[in-house]
Order: sequence, then C-alpha cells, then structure tokens
Amino acid sequence: MSETTVEVKLEVKQASKEVKESENVAEKYSVMTVSKNTEMNMEELSSAFSAVPTHKPVKKQIQFVEDKQEFSRFPTKAGRRSLSRSISQSSTDSYSSAASYTDSSDDETSPRDKTQVNSKGSSDFCVKNIKQAEFGRREIEIAEQDMSALIALRKRAQSEKPLAGAKIVGCTHITAQTAVLIETLVALGAQCRWTACNIYSTQNEVAAALSEIGVAVFAWKGESEDDFWWCIDRCVNTEGWQPNMILDDGGDLTHWMYKKYPNVFKKIRGIVEESVTGVHRLYQLSKAGKLCVPAMNVNDSVTKQKFDNLYCCRESILDGLKRTTDVMFGGKQVVVCGYGEVGKGCCAALKALGAIVYITEIDPICALQACMDGFRVVKLNEVIRHVDITITCTGNKNVVTRDQLDRMKNGSIVCNMGHSNTEIDVASLRTPELTWERVRSQVDHVIWPDGKRVILLAEGRLLNLSCSTVPTFVLSITATTQALALIELYNAPEGRYKQDVYLLPKKMDEYVASLHLATFDAHLTELSDEQAKYLGLNKNGPFKPNYYRY
Ligand code: NAD
Repeated sequence: MSETTVEVKLEVKQASKEVKESENVAEKYSVMTVSKNTEMNMEELSSAFSAVPTHKPVKKQIQFVEDKQEFSRFPTKAGRRSLSRSISQSSTDSYSSAASYTDSSDDETSPRDKTQVNSKGSSDFCVKNIKQAEFGRREIEIAEQDMSALIALRKRAQSEKPLAGAKIVGCTHITAQTAVLIETLVALGAQCRWTACNIYSTQNEVAAALSEIGVAVFAWKGESEDDFWWCIDRCVNTEGWQPNMILDDGGDLTHWMYKKYPNVFKKIRGIVEESVTGVHRLYQLSKAGKLCVPAMNVNDSVTKQKFDNLYCCRESILDGLKRTTDVMFGGKQVVVCGYGEVGKGCCAALKALGAIVYITEIDPICALQACMDGFRVVKLNEVIRHVDITITCTGNKNVVTRDQLDRMKNGSIVCNMGHSNTEIDVASLRTPELTWERVRSQVDHVIWPDGKRVILLAEGRLLNLSCSTVPTFVLSITATTQALALIELYNAPEGRYKQDVYLLPKKMDEYVASLHLATFDAHLTELSDEQAKYLGLNKNGPFKPNYYRY
C-alpha cells in the first residue's frame, strides 16, 4: 500500500472520530448560535457570549489528541522551513514601525540611563518617555474601535477573571493593537510584564501608556541588541514575581527562559507562540525531548494563517509601496516570489490595480494555483531584467541573490514581505563599489558604478510592518485567538496537555471567527436536522474536519 493510501485512510478515520466527539460537547458549546443571530449589536454579542460557556466549558470541547496527531501527519509550513537564523534574529528582522508615530529623535539618552516614575509612583518599567502615556492612550482607544470582538470577550469574561493568578510574560511587537490584547489579559485577571520581540517595532507612546497603568513594559523603539536581551531579562528576572505563562512571537523569550532560567521555565503552565519561527523552534525542542511545558501553536490556526497572512498582506502591500515610492501600479511588471498565503494576498492586490504579475514558486501545487489564478509562473532569472518591482514572500533565505540584484534594471524596486530579513541578500550589497543613498525613511537607493539605482525598501525587512500600518481588525482576530489560547492553557486541568506543541482545535477557530462576524452583520445559515444528519455534523460545529484546508 502506498504512503498516500495510508494517509487518506487515517484522515477518514480521524474525521469520523472528530464528528462523534464534537457531538458530545456541542450542547455545552453554544458559540455558533452567536453568529446566527440575524441582527446583532455589541450588547447582544456580549450577552450571546454570556450564553457561551466561558473558559471552563470551552475547555471541555477540545480534542487535542487529534490535533497533535494531525500535526504530525501534516507537517506545517513552519515545520518545513529551516531554522537558519540566530536566536536573536527576530529582534532585528521585522518591523520598524511607520505604525509608530513616535518621534524618538528628541532625546538620545538611553531609557536604561533614565529614572522614570509613573503617576502611581512605580518605576518598574523602562520605556522611552513615560510622559507620552496620554498620547499612547489615545492610540489604544483608536485601536479598540476596530477590535470589538476582543473587547466583547474582555467585557464578558472580566467578571469571571479566568486569568486570575496568571503571571504572563510577553514578548511581541508593542503596538496599540497589542496593548488592547494586554489590557484584555489584565482585565481577565492576569498580571503582565512585557517586552518587544523586535528592536524597531515598539510604539513608544503605547509602551508609556501601558507602563502608566501598571504593566511592566521594558521596550523602546531603536533598542540595541544588548538592550533587547536586557529588556527580556528584566521582564523575567524580578524580585517577588515569577511568570507562569508565556506569550511569545518569535521564540526569543522562550529560549531565553529555557536557557537562563530553567527552573522558572519548568514551572510555566503554558506557552502561546504566534510566529512561524517560534513554532518551529518549539517543535525542535519537542522533537529533542526538551520541551517540558505545553505549548499552543497559534501560527497554524486557521484564524491566524488564513486571515493575518492573507488579508493583512492583501490590505497592506500597496500601502507600504505607495508610502515609500509613490509608485503607480497600473501596467507595472511585478514578480512575487512565493505563492503561499502572503504571496496570494499581495498578488490579489497588485492584480486589482492593473499590475502584470509574475510568480516564482518551488511547490507545484502553489504554482498550479498561481496559474489557475491567471498569473505567469516563471523562474526569477527569466524576468529579473525587466520587472519594475520584486517582492519576496517565501519565509526562505537568499531568494533574491546579489547576481539577480546586479541584473535588475534602473529604478527597480525590491522589497520583502516575509518574516525575516534573509530573503533578499542585502548583506551582499554592502560592498565598496556600491553607494547607498538614504532618500526617505526606510528607502535606500543602492547605486551601481554605472549609475544604475535599485530602490531597496526597509533594508529587506518586512515591508508592510516597516513602512505602513497593518489593519487593526485582522490583528483583533489573532489577538482573540491568543487570549483564548492563554485562557485554555492556564485553566486546563493537570494532564490535559502534555509537554508538547498543540494546535488550537477547529472549534476554537470557528469561535474566534464567529465573534468577528457581528462586525459585518453577517447572517450564518443554520443546518437543518436533516442536513446535519446527512453531512454527519453537529449543528453547532465543528463544520470541517481538522485536515480541511479552506
Ligand atoms: P507559506 O508557506 O504559505 O508560503 C511561502 C511560499 O513560498 C510557499 O508556497 C513556498 O513553496 C514558497 N517558497 C519557498 N521558497 C521559495 C523560493 N526559493 N522561491 C519561490 N518560492 C518559494 O507562508 P506564508 O504564510 O505565505 O508566509 C510567508 C512569510 O511571510 C513567512 O515568513 C511569514 O512569517 C511571513 N508573514 C508576513 C506577514 C506580513 O504581515 N508581512 C504576515 C504573515 C506572515
């Protein structure tokens, strides 16, 4: 019997098992009725949420054994990537924020050399300038307006305090949207200490606003590598406070604790990890038998991958390019490397504005999808001489080499949408014969001896997060998923989670989606009894088996 046949049989077996188990828990889990209400305002959403069992019942419908097995049968994209970067790379590889309106140039004193106190007399934080707190508060309030599902979760669950006693140490981009998540966790009973997963991404005013309300934030825009690790250490290593949960983006915090504070690490109840890279690291630890804490892989949940990666990039690629270059897209020739979720989002946006889009792919399935979507699939070398814009979205390294940069035409724009700054060989451009000219913030002209200029954006770091803002609503979906993952891991009874990496169950994904449907006044169709029986589904979901790919 071929491997494929075995795999298909396993899938079928699993599918029927899932349906059976979900039926047992569905009555307790009325979440899907939330989105089936035809006219739902925020109040109703809240009360619908009250009908939904909060953290405790939610736990009961989770089928983690299958989730884990599914993962091992279908290695994720993360699993296929090589972990080529150093442990600290996420500190430097992604975003500096145009999203931050902070002017960090006014005061060159390192926050480490300042003594600052918030209005309550606490100095347990280290941010650029605590006086910016009021401005940061306004930024957070603006973000809240488009994160209504997360706010609804906060309002409903804050009386129950499902995170009471949780001491969460977090390492993420510190933006207004993250602040809404952190304040939700605090409202649900958690104590939080926070640091940035990237040296450029902190919105200083937001860090100040969080410090003002008593969240111990150690982060500022433009940290040095040394500052970065110092901030992580200050979050973890403090008198009289020991973390019991981790929320990480990139895995740096997890690894720091694992290496430097193994005894504290062992007592952690759960890790929630958002990024491809961090998840990959967790799987490596798990494979080596060294993961002594249960972890949730949020990156591969549908509500992250199919929303953040696809729609976020579809909405922000043009913004990043426009703000930096004022380029017109109609008729421009663009090559997009990688037709995964991020690539698909970028291509859809570019095509809509009349660009002629070429795709490069290594995977025949994604290549075929690109063909069916009407794109020409080519090798980069076939088009590199004449394209106007080159965009990498692979999560891989050295996708655009120095040789290819040499062959680009004058005025070519080159940028990256993947997580790490490894996709374009930027280091190879730092040679004496090439001149670098900074023409705008995050925009460099690299000039060849014959006068040819290539326009490099954000030095090869994530374009959208470096040079534009990202849509708040999409981040609400990811943040809600993270909050639920934390609640679940924190409240899980002993033994539910082993020392392994788990995917969020389908039902939780559907739940996060349903919470966000109210924003659109979307009306879901309900299965009739007859239809549910015919499809072998519970009327309240889950509606798809775990292996369904959307
Ligand atoms: P994905 O795995 O779905 O897609 C990547 C694609 O690149 C795959 O189809 C793969 O076959 C292809 N690929 C790999 N090496 C290649 C090569 N040398 N040439 C051509 N194609 C190649 O991943 P994704 O979800 O699309 O994410 C891609 C990257 O974007 C990741 O690094 C991810 O962390 C990052 N990301 C960025 C944002 C953002 O806002 N900019 C959001 C989410 C994810």
